[in-house]
Amino acid sequence: MFENVCKHCLKTFRSVDKRGYCDACRDLDVDEFDRIEAYLKKYPNSNALQISESLGIDVYDIIRFMSEGRLQVTRGTFSRIDE
Ligand SMILES: [Zn+2]
Repeated sequence: MFENVCKHCLKTFRSVDKRGYCDACRDLDVDEFDRIEAYLKKYPNSNALQISESLGIDVYDIIRFMSEGRLQVTRGTFSRIDE
């Protein structure tokens, strides 16, 4: 069993696999990911801050998706937040 912390509600929970979100936040997580993915298809060179502002998703959520390897990073621009 893994001890996980949900990145959305910060609740601690156990599961058989390593996960970044609890059952209650699964829909939210999938929904956010779908919206980010759709946005990146339209605007492939967006950085995390632009996505956050356009979609109203917390910038740290987006960075976490990135660090989970679930978002394809193109040309390295996504990992930086421009001043
Ligand atoms: Zn949660």
